[in-house]
Amino acid sequence: MIEKPLDYAIVGGGISGLAVAWFLRHRGHSVQVLEAANVVGGTLQSQVSDGFLVEQGPNSTLENTDALRVLIEGAGLACALQVANPAGKRRYILRDQRLEPLPLGVGAFLRTPLFSVRGRLRLCLEPFIGRATVEETVASFVRRRLGQEFLDWAIDPFISGVYAGDPEKLSVRAATAKVYALEAEYGSLIGGMLRRALKGRRTGPTPAGRMIAFAGGMQTLVRSVAAVLGSDVRTQAKVTALHLGRDGLWRLRIASDERETLARRVVLSLPAGHAAELLAPLAPDAASILRGIFYPAVASVALGFRRDQVSHSLDGFGFLVPRRCGVETLGALFSSSLFPGRAPTDHVLITAFLGGARHPGVGDLSEEQILQRVLRDITPILGISGSPVFQSVTTWHRAIPQYEIGHLERMATLDHLLAEWPGLYTRANWRDGISVADCVRNARDFAERG
Ligand SMILES: Cc1cc2nc3c(=O)[nH]c(=O)nc-3n(C[C@H](O)[C@H](O)[C@H](O)COP(=O)(O)OP(=O)(O)OC[C@H]3O[C@@H](n4cnc5c(N)ncnc54)[C@H](O)[C@@H]3O)c2cc1C
Repeated sequence: MIEKPLDYAIVGGGISGLAVAWFLRHRGHSVQVLEAANVVGGTLQSQVSDGFLVEQGPNSTLENTDALRVLIEGAGLACALQVANPAGKRRYILRDQRLEPLPLGVGAFLRTPLFSVRGRLRLCLEPFIGRATVEETVASFVRRRLGQEFLDWAIDPFISGVYAGDPEKLSVRAATAKVYALEAEYGSLIGGMLRRALKGRRTGPTPAGRMIAFAGGMQTLVRSVAAVLGSDVRTQAKVTALHLGRDGLWRLRIASDERETLARRVVLSLPAGHAAELLAPLAPDAASILRGIFYPAVASVALGFRRDQVSHSLDGFGFLVPRRCGVETLGALFSSSLFPGRAPTDHVLITAFLGGARHPGVGDLSEEQILQRVLRDITPILGISGSPVFQSVTTWHRAIPQYEIGHLERMATLDHLLAEWPGLYTRANWRDGISVADCVRNARDFAERG
């Protein structure tokens, strides 16, 4: 019997691969997701322990694209959707050992101790600064347009919070495309935000869109999408090689299978290093571009306390730590303040992060060392007394891809190299946005083009 080839074989069952499959299937294509692990979801993993709901990877995502809404409804998840507590708009920044709210309005901005008078006056120069002529890092862009203080006390902690990254290395055009677009389109960030506000397009210091998660955790999203896809998703199906036959069909070797899987097209929805392994025999230069993408290690530390052990009100999203504070922990989320069901009654759940591009050695630390360092840092900041009643440490040795300077050119070269292989595509978080919502939007865009 001759096996019927799939329209698309999708390698990797994280949110990127599952969303690609979901949108392609809706357009009538036959698909199969091949996932190496015994569960789907990649970095979206949640666990319930001792009454605490722990997110090992993402805790939430910003619903800033209709693609995510379509996927949520299609997966029958509307009733499991949780929207963050409105107090989550309040984000704290550590300065002089105190947590200061990031100002959300002009009045608060004029009063905040986060910036000096000189730093605030420096911002007034922004509309008069010209456009860049060369590609810049996030740090050089912000320093040039907004001044060093704004970089140190607003952007540096923001970059830590999103990328666990180093603003001195990330490309402003690739990593913070929306901010860069304000300069490119309007010649000024402040002028651009004002003009957009006048046109009725939302603008401001907090990101647009609702912060969402799911009852049962972020894993509910991937598990539900996989359930809808049913037998079109295979777990424990590690793809070990692929090649293009003379008949124009792709052949995928799967570790556990005797027979190869046949497909007209292949989408690699894999971490860059894993995609590089599969591509190395076909396109060694493409593989070496992918191997060059830096992924620092990040540890996610979930800590449960009785409510009376923490004196801070935990009335917000959480706090971020600017590098200038000299504190190792990157920041922490007030998980149980943001979404219901994260901690038992009269308890709180705090999720702290260690490592990233700032402290890449975290991957070599033991769980006990990670825990001790986080507790050392956050105990005085949040006024914690006693030991946690619950703790869970997850170390991601290759956590988040860094879109460093030159990233967009490298991606263009990659596309050029892969264009020699008809029907071979890549769709993962190492390009065009790292958030869960970005991965879903990119999957939808891919399916529409496909
Ligand atoms: C600690 C942490 C916190 C984060 N916080 C947030 C947040 O708050 N909000 C947000 O929006 N985003 C957050 N992110 C980012 C977001 O979670 C990721 O960018 C996104 O989930 C990546 O999805 P992906 O499918 O592209 O890749 P992955 O999730 O890495 O999935 C790739 C899949 O490929 C599989 N695979 C690998 N090799 C093979 C092979 N040879 N054959 C078959 N399968 C293979 C893997 O097992 C994996 O399941 C966070 C990430 C981390 C690590």
